[in-house]
Amino acid sequence: MTEQNYTILAVFAHPDDEVGAGSTLSYYSDQGVRVVLCCATRGEAATIFCDDCATADTLAAVRTQELRCACDHLGIRDLRWLDWPDGGVKDLPREEATGELVALIRELRPTILLTHPENGLYPHPDHLAVWEMVRAAWDAAADETKYPEAGPVWQTPRLFTRAMPQSIFERAPGLKDFRVELNGQLLPFMGTPDDEIDVTMNVGPWVPRRMAAWSCHISQHNPKGFSSVMPDGLREEMAAREQFILIAGAPLPEGVQSNLFVGLEEGDTYMVDGPAPDASEPAQENPAEPIVSAEFVRLLNSELNRHVSLAEVLRLYERDPREPRHGSLYHQLSAAEQEVIYLLARHLRRLDAGAGRNEPDPTVIREARRRDRPDLRHEFLQNRMEVAYSRFLDLARSALVDDERAVWEELAALSRGAVEALK
Ligand SMILES: [Zn+2]
Repeated sequence: MTEQNYTILAVFAHPDDEVGAGSTLSYYSDQGVRVVLCCATRGEAATIFCDDCATADTLAAVRTQELRCACDHLGIRDLRWLDWPDGGVKDLPREEATGELVALIRELRPTILLTHPENGLYPHPDHLAVWEMVRAAWDAAADETKYPEAGPVWQTPRLFTRAMPQSIFERAPGLKDFRVELNGQLLPFMGTPDDEIDVTMNVGPWVPRRMAAWSCHISQHNPKGFSSVMPDGLREEMAAREQFILIAGAPLPEGVQSNLFVGLEEGDTYMVDGPAPDASEPAQENPAEPIVSAEFVRLLNSELNRHVSLAEVLRLYERDPREPRHGSLYHQLSAAEQEVIYLLARHLRRLDAGAGRNEPDPTVIREARRRDRPDLRHEFLQNRMEVAYSRFLDLARSALVDDERAVWEELAALSRGAVEALK
């Protein structure tokens, strides 16, 4: 089912630029969307805001680690670097640099491309140059006459940028006069008129993930930074509502939307506002057909295998949450777990119909999404998983012959093997 997953490719200039979309990126990562972050530079030219965490010589390595840490919190498992020069993006050979982005787009085939806004949020020359090149690469990646050596063409369905609504300045008067200092220049923040915002993501429950990501960027913690002029609570409020502008691609429905994917690929199962699971599939009509398809058994085998591994990884992860391998496995397996829950909901509905009952349970995913915190969601899904699995097993055993039971036993052995392999 992985190939049906959506992909967000976020391209930003510096380590820490991702934080501004952090609640949204972690939200989508939790929904099973593949989120890839491409960071153009290592941020090696930045001012160091800590006493002993970095020197000019080590800053690139330190900021690399800081971004990896942030990605762990945001559930970003795929981090790419362009290794462009910090502060020098605009001076790169434009054609060649854009070609690097085109190759990345064609490789990853994202559903959504996300980058800095045209105004940069503040006019850092790297932000502006990255915006211009991402905009050009969005077009070029879909044009077979451009960069033929960069792989088969890909039309990314939507290009979004971040945005800061103008109304923020009214609520944070200090922000109007705030300037980001860059090589002796003082750069102002730039808002976007509120009525030009296309998508506002309501991602309150994911604010702690964004904050945790920011806490990783220790070398950037400027005590006189922009947070210092924000009224109490407004920073959290901004993190709970992140804004985006659609630049190109499939139009959005009328009005401000709350989902970057709205209207794309109906039938995909991982989107918040997507159709209810299985809405279009007719119930099992022919009772003579086997209730359980071989394909389902195969899928469940592999998914349950991953699920059982998750429990073990969680134990390791809880022991040492900062261990990066466990963190990334945890996120990977959480996504897999969501897949299996969906799968079970779909097939249980079929089973229920086949068994003459009329009470399908397709609401598990919606229910899970009501749990604000990842650990509560996980607990809920795990319980549902166990209930669903044993219910399925009972039905399968009552309806099927011994061969099928052998499949289940093989499955249990596989799961044990996976757990062993992780030790
Ligand atoms: Zn930046």
